[in-house]
Amino acid sequence: MPATGSQLLETPERRALRQAVADLARRYGSDYFLAKSRAGEPVDELWAEAGKAGYLGVNLPVEYGGGGGGITDLAIVLEELGAAGCPLLLMVVSPAISGTVIARFGTEEQKRRWLPGLADGSRRFAFGITEPDAGSNSHRITTVARRDGEDWLLTGRKVFISGIDQCDAVLFVARTEDSRTGKLKPCLFVVPRDTPGFEYRPIPMEIVAPERQFQVFLDDVRLPADALVGDENAGLLQLFAGLNPERILTAAFALGLARHALGRAVDYAKERTVWSTPIGAHQGLAHPLAQCAVEIELARLMAQKAGLLYDAGEDVAAGEAANMAKYAAGEAAAHAVDQAVQTLGGNGLTQEYGLGALLVASRVARVAPVSREMVLNYVAQHTLGLPKSY
Ligand SMILES: Cc1cc2nc3c(=O)[nH]c(=O)nc-3n(C[C@H](O)[C@H](O)[C@H](O)COP(=O)(O)OP(=O)(O)OC[C@H]3O[C@@H](n4cnc5c(N)ncnc54)[C@H](O)[C@@H]3O)c2cc1C
Repeated sequence: MPATGSQLLETPERRALRQAVADLARRYGSDYFLAKSRAGEPVDELWAEAGKAGYLGVNLPVEYGGGGGGITDLAIVLEELGAAGCPLLLMVVSPAISGTVIARFGTEEQKRRWLPGLADGSRRFAFGITEPDAGSNSHRITTVARRDGEDWLLTGRKVFISGIDQCDAVLFVARTEDSRTGKLKPCLFVVPRDTPGFEYRPIPMEIVAPERQFQVFLDDVRLPADALVGDENAGLLQLFAGLNPERILTAAFALGLARHALGRAVDYAKERTVWSTPIGAHQGLAHPLAQCAVEIELARLMAQKAGLLYDAGEDVAAGEAANMAKYAAGEAAAHAVDQAVQTLGGNGLTQEYGLGALLVASRVARVAPVSREMVLNYVAQHTLGLPKSY
């Protein structure tokens, strides 16, 4: 399904970016992406080409090799890759979260060390906040960073961390040991993958994707002082600078997937004829597909709003919009893939058509990085002012 819109909503530069990414991604397509995923291999060729063209670092500052754009631009890149059947999950954690946090809060030396590689795709970062005993309640994370002279010692466990085996380093969220209030006082640490005491094991998942998820064990991992990104006491402000882009990019990931599935279903419904007209003429199929198109467009508008607010520096307003966009896009993706599979009948479940493979992937945006129930909690409390139940 092509992206619709007008110059009122998107500048000519952004429309050109959309087109250029779509052209590149179509040369790879879902056959390439699914074959790599099924073989358990990374999509390095596509990643490298997108990086070289400047698409992966389009949001990062020009002085460190980026494109000087915003999260809105990066979201366009991911949405178009997904719409062509190549949704790159690592874009969410590498340039969107890690790149943003380092660009906004890193020291000059950290920026010089990490950003050029993140911008051209030659380096990748994973991001780790989720813990087995905390889950959605990130206030309960217990990964602790203790000072030892000039160094830090990091100890804890993480779960479901995407793509570690394909990354150079992980940006971990920990908390400082002296936080006595019990409130979340997150700190962010860069941990290179080969650091002693940092172990990770793949979790067998049912997702057909080129990235795997990992359990992480951090056992007194010794880090130099400059592993800490940003201010030890800046707390939530710094974290949300990274988490809002995460939600906006997750929305883009889901929207790309949704557009891809809907496009495939519509093409099929126009051709496949088992009575006297193509199956797309039957309203039992046409209306649910039309509903999917409406849901996708609504979610795209909200994602655009979230990106524009974030890029304008309005972190609080962007937080609400990013949550709503992530929710709407997650629902749109789940509905679009479900309806696409149904539209193809038996072919919806074959490997040849590749839509059945998206059934699990399309659920990811309902669960991660924040579940749909937690987004509804956020909207209930912050937008509607309703009391909290938990
Ligand atoms: C494919 C995939 C990739 C991921 N990649 C990463 C990554 O790279 N880095 C990272 O840090 N994490 C990652 N995650 C983790 C993801 O962010 C978590 O799975 C998510 O935050 C939910 O946590 P949980 O799985 O522990 O579920 P739980 O917190 O145990 O929740 C289980 C269910 O209970 C519901 N629930 C919990 N609390 C409430 C409440 N108060 N009200 C109503 N319902 C509630 C939830 O909505 C959910 O439906 C990934 C997850 C997946 C599936």
